[in-house]
Amino acid sequence: MRKRKRFELDENELPKKWCNILPDLPNPCPPPLSPATNEPINPKDLEVLFAKELIKQEISSEPEITIPTEIREMLQNIRPSPLIRAFGLEKQLKTKSRIFFKYEGEKSPTGSHKVNTAISQAYYNKKEGTETLATETGAGQWGSALAYACKLFDLKCKVMMVRASYDQKPHRRTIMELFGAEVSPSPSSITEFGQKILSSDPRHPGSLGIAISEAIVLALQNEQTKYSLGSVLNHVLLHQTVIGLEAIDQFRMAEESPGPNFVVGCVGGGSNFAGLAYPFIREKLRNGYEFEAVAAESTAASKMSDGDYRYDFGDTANMTPLLKMYTLGSDYIPPPIHAGGLRYHGVAPSLSVLINAGYVSPRKYDQQTAFKAAEIFVKSEGIIPAPESAHAITAVIDIAREHKDEEQTIIFNLSGHGLLDLLGYQRYLSNELE
Ligand SMILES: *Cc1c(COP(=O)(O)O)cnc(C)c1O
Repeated sequence: MRKRKRFELDENELPKKWCNILPDLPNPCPPPLSPATNEPINPKDLEVLFAKELIKQEISSEPEITIPTEIREMLQNIRPSPLIRAFGLEKQLKTKSRIFFKYEGEKSPTGSHKVNTAISQAYYNKKEGTETLATETGAGQWGSALAYACKLFDLKCKVMMVRASYDQKPHRRTIMELFGAEVSPSPSSITEFGQKILSSDPRHPGSLGIAISEAIVLALQNEQTKYSLGSVLNHVLLHQTVIGLEAIDQFRMAEESPGPNFVVGCVGGGSNFAGLAYPFIREKLRNGYEFEAVAAESTAASKMSDGDYRYDFGDTANMTPLLKMYTLGSDYIPPPIHAGGLRYHGVAPSLSVLINAGYVSPRKYDQQTAFKAAEIFVKSEGIIPAPESAHAITAVIDIAREHKDEEQTIIFNLSGHGLLDLLGYQRYLSNELE
């Protein structure tokens, strides 16, 4: 009999509540500090930037947070995402282990997990009267997800796009513009901070940290404009937990109880990793169920492996509250790699707590290694992964090889497809990768 490859949930089985890890963390998540006073920030002070309901979620101590019907209905158009058994990859690796992945790129209109939080953030902002959402984007995945969500809820969307990507990756800009977003290259001439950088270097390639600063300026300039972040913050990670909650149900269908021995994801700011791993980690924290959580990062921005655990700014102009996180420093400018989504200098505070307490092990990989793993995956599974997700695949291949003759169960998050990253793949094939 043919062994089952895909484990699909019905749209009615989409989770009804998000999993909030904060109350279950082994140590409390240190609060964001105001840079002016070095004291914990008053949540009210965040209201210039974020919808009130999102601030409530940011600091909530409720372990379960109900997903509003309107958000569930929008999510039901694009999920649950499938859990897939990677028989081809298992065979290729000659491993006894079983490898599964959640595929967030299959039904997502913009090709990655980022729509899960984009829809939720757009909904709460619309409900509270916001007219425009301003944001930054690196390679364009977050910008296109937010542009899509803003169109769904009839909001205006302004995107500051890192200039290097704006120039080199026109396709994602086209997607954002088709959804009606206004896209500017960052550093831009529309904010004073951008002008200052451009005056000293007119060809500055930009960075996520700079683009965040510029998007925040847009939000501060207009009361009906709010700011939206695609990763790092508690509420963003919260919205992504539908991934892991679905996976737990799908594991039951696959008769893989109690669950995996390894849970793997790639980390830029931490949202897709947390989305898959936090519901499993909560089981571990509550019931002691044992597995290893592995977070794969890029050597180009290896904050988890090589950064300091300290308070730092989220942006280059030092306008955000101070977050306690693993960081390479807010002025860190990463080298230009194709996995643009992994180039952030810091990582989510909640994930930092878990790394610091030994619940999550980081591993780092260079882009050559990641593209090689991606090629193995394309040939064995027939799916072209996003270069970011390829870092998770690299970790999975490592783990399977380290446990060659053991029967381990491994799950990873295939956070997106790579059909818009073909320039990177072309460079890999012609040996032109840096
Ligand atoms: C943005 C992105 C990432 C990295 O961001 P996280 O917040 O760490 O998930 C990873 N994979 C894909 C496909 C992305 O678009």
